[in-house]
Amino acid sequence: MPVNADAVVVGSGPNGLAAAVTLARAGLRVAVYEAADTLGGGLRGAALFDSEIVHDICAAVHPLAAASRFFREFDLPARGVELRHPEISYAHPLDGGRSALAWHDLDATCAALGSADGRRWRRLMEPLLTHSTRLTDVLLSTMRRPPGITPARLLAGRVAAYGLPPARTRFTGEEAPALLAGLAAHSLGPLPSPAGAAVAMLLGHLAHGTGWPLPRGGSQAIADALIADIAAHGGTFHTGHRVTDLGEFAGARAVLLDVSPRGLLALAGDRLPRRYARALARYRYGPAAGKADFLVSEPIPWADPRVGRAGTVHLGGTLPEIYRQETANARGEPCDEPLVLVADPAVADPGRARPGKRPVWAYAHLPPGDTRDPVALIRRRIERYAPGFGDTVLAERGISGAAYEAYNANYVGGDIGTGAITLWQSLLRPAARWDPYRVPLPGTYLCSAATPPGPSVHGMCGYYAARSALRHEFGLPLPNLQSSP
Ligand SMILES: Cc1cc2nc3c(=O)[nH]c(=O)nc-3n(C[C@H](O)[C@H](O)[C@H](O)COP(=O)(O)OP(=O)(O)OC[C@H]3O[C@@H](n4cnc5c(N)ncnc54)[C@H](O)[C@@H]3O)c2cc1C
Repeated sequence: MPVNADAVVVGSGPNGLAAAVTLARAGLRVAVYEAADTLGGGLRGAALFDSEIVHDICAAVHPLAAASRFFREFDLPARGVELRHPEISYAHPLDGGRSALAWHDLDATCAALGSADGRRWRRLMEPLLTHSTRLTDVLLSTMRRPPGITPARLLAGRVAAYGLPPARTRFTGEEAPALLAGLAAHSLGPLPSPAGAAVAMLLGHLAHGTGWPLPRGGSQAIADALIADIAAHGGTFHTGHRVTDLGEFAGARAVLLDVSPRGLLALAGDRLPRRYARALARYRYGPAAGKADFLVSEPIPWADPRVGRAGTVHLGGTLPEIYRQETANARGEPCDEPLVLVADPAVADPGRARPGKRPVWAYAHLPPGDTRDPVALIRRRIERYAPGFGDTVLAERGISGAAYEAYNANYVGGDIGTGAITLWQSLLRPAARWDPYRVPLPGTYLCSAATPPGPSVHGMCGYYAARSALRHEFGLPLPNLQSSP
């Protein structure tokens, strides 16, 4: 089917949309094709149980959309997307009604950790905050250039000191190590690990800087801002269209694929050079996420009520417990008490609730391809730190790790990272190539989270892939991404 576009984007997740924004703003005619009936990929929201209450189906909390270079330039607030900051970026309840709290305010966090551990937390975080933009840009880079002396020194020192040997030896209490372990667990792999420690440093310092905000109205607001910009620059959208063969786009000079390496193999068939195809087939996927959405009648009754002021809550216990759970998970060993992440979006955005009704978003880290309905596991975990939670539940639904793949083909076996986040695979996703976005087929690019810098809503994979396509296919520079006054 010849298409009437200079560039086609397959997949409308944040990376596909970031690529489409960049290409459309460079003056190209862009067409976006999406398998699902609605646009947004991991940013989609839906009223699952009640027409007034919107649930985030995948991403809910956005430290990287608040900090990445793409979104800094795109400027969500200038486009009417209000990023709402909870007072406490993330909380980590422990048994006995105790909890560790990472306030947006670093001083408040240090005060809550007590004088010795508070001093150490400040020593860890303050230098990262001083160099936050440079550090964030390095960690969200193409991973193809040396990082510069200051970010490299800061990161290497902290990864070695707080990531590799158990961080608990650096602190006297259990709270600060639990905070670090909860952060490292966002790497969805065995712990401790260098990749987990780097993720902990990135997310940990942002919690006290640009923050861990939730967009007003839900994550779909971010997708809608991107979609509006693409449409304003002449882009077109084709939903409910699962692309099955790259041959569909004869006529387009560039095709950018927001798909997994497995998806790329299926689309390109045997047109790919054998060595590259072998690398894609060897690409490793990580553990799964199993999601539960709840409609509840009141805020979560946390044993420590201060936890109810947090945008995100990590439920995994102490550092050694989290390391154990995450390592077992990555090995494919099911664990009865997996790490669970919870968000009650109305804490930061009261408009998400109505009298007697509010959404609760939660997911558990599970072994790859896990087929269990995660609702019971997640409920049990929440009840441990918020007794009586079950009595507030009006409606609920679960998506198993395995079922996530049917919802979004990029989540292979439920892997919401579109590929394991090991040190090696963070640098060389999806294959060892100087330009990881360029597929060795004419005009073809990969722009999903399977390219550097990897998962989360930051738009950088799409932005870098578009930059590569603009340069190689059209001889164009990167456009300005700011909204016109
Ligand atoms: C439960 C859950 C919670 C998460 N929480 C957070 C969070 O709080 N914060 C955060 O930053 N990140 C979070 N993430 C991760 C984040 O959603 C992803 O990293 C991000 O969406 C990846 O963006 P992407 O554009 O690469 O791909 P995706 O967002 O996965 O989008 C890919 C799109 O491509 C489409 N597609 C695939 N193949 C085809 C095809 N052949 N034809 C047409 N269309 C196709 C898919 O339908 C999909 O819409 C979460 C993910 C999940 C599942």
